[in-house]
Amino acid sequence: MNSTVVVAGGAGFIGGHLVRQLVTQGAHVTVIDNLHTGTRRHFEGLPEAQVTFVEADVCEPRSLACDLVINLACPASPLHYQAQPLKTWRTSVFGTLNLAQAALECGARFLQASTSEVYGDPEVHPQTEDYVGNVSFTGPRACYDEGKRAAETYLLDMLRETGLDVRIARIFNTFGPGMALNDGRAVSNFVRQALSDEPITIMGSGNQTRSFCYVSDTVRGLLKLALTEDLSGAIVNIGNPDERSISEIAQTVLAQCPDSASQVSYLPEAVDDPRRRCPDISRAKALLGWQPEVALKEGLSETVSDFARRIEAKEACWL
Ligand code: NAD
Ligand code: UDP
Repeated sequence: MNSTVVVAGGAGFIGGHLVRQLVTQGAHVTVIDNLHTGTRRHFEGLPEAQVTFVEADVCEPRSLACDLVINLACPASPLHYQAQPLKTWRTSVFGTLNLAQAALECGARFLQASTSEVYGDPEVHPQTEDYVGNVSFTGPRACYDEGKRAAETYLLDMLRETGLDVRIARIFNTFGPGMALNDGRAVSNFVRQALSDEPITIMGSGNQTRSFCYVSDTVRGLLKLALTEDLSGAIVNIGNPDERSISEIAQTVLAQCPDSASQVSYLPEAVDDPRRRCPDISRAKALLGWQPEVALKEGLSETVSDFARRIEAKEACWL
């Protein structure tokens, strides 16, 4: 691939994997990241000639020179996006405005990392891209959900008014090696807790569901959406339809850590927590020929090995 790609938020969990994949395919990548929830460690071992790191906030406008902009900038974990809700909102909305304007001015294509959170607590199951969602716009998740929805609106208006080539990936829960040890999400918490003999913290009944996609599958889907010709305006769910309850995820993690002394401990349910979530990926299959390949147990096994190595090495939490 002889492309120049800007990856905003490229020092994060998904970004780290995506940048590595782009570099492997021959791209020259500029990462723009303020290191809020990211780390430069993701780029260790990559050829310096192919990766330029710019420590900057996407809320500040800047001009770019590239063929493709991929916007991943925004904390994805409720723990982090709710800690600074105004910052989250500004990042999603103003960050997207700034990056889209820069893409327009340099003639680049734009891929937006949106989210299954735009469906809120869904009343349609599984969620198709046409479903308009059931989002609480005043609750503590709204900074993220509504920020991402506003970004989608803005990008589609950019397409209509300026012709900017825009693609929107609605990413469902993604997990895998390289998640920050204290990312605060279900999989990262459960794996770290199980390996450290700490209580496994289930919030609520544990009957709520999610559909977890392994990070290599997510990255492959994102790149297909970014690089396939003639898809301007496409909105595509990228996720794994293998829906599981959170209790089942906890038990599956524990089964992969047979020496763990951890017990399940129940905490109060998170406010506005979606009860079910599962992608309909018909569109991804039809447009991109994409579907997940890595099974949950296989992905969890890789994640447990990675976390065990990092905990053993006493790696400081990245955040
Ligand atoms: P992450 O928190 O690991 O990475 C986000 C990156 O964005 C970090 O490197 C962070 O430092 C950077 N960032 C945050 N605010 C910024 C700002 N104002 N300016 C510059 N950089 C900034 O999250 P992730 O899991 O890698 O998610 C990446 C993207 O994918 C996010 O946009 C998220 O909304 C989306 N997404 C992720 C998931 C998931 O399950 N991981 C699901 C749906 C959508
Ligand atoms: N969750 C949990 N224990 C944790 C972290 C999360 O039970 O330690 C629950 C959370 O309340 C939600 C589900 O697991 O119902 C998925 O949470 P996560 O933060 O991973 O993703 P999101 O809520 O953004 O889908």
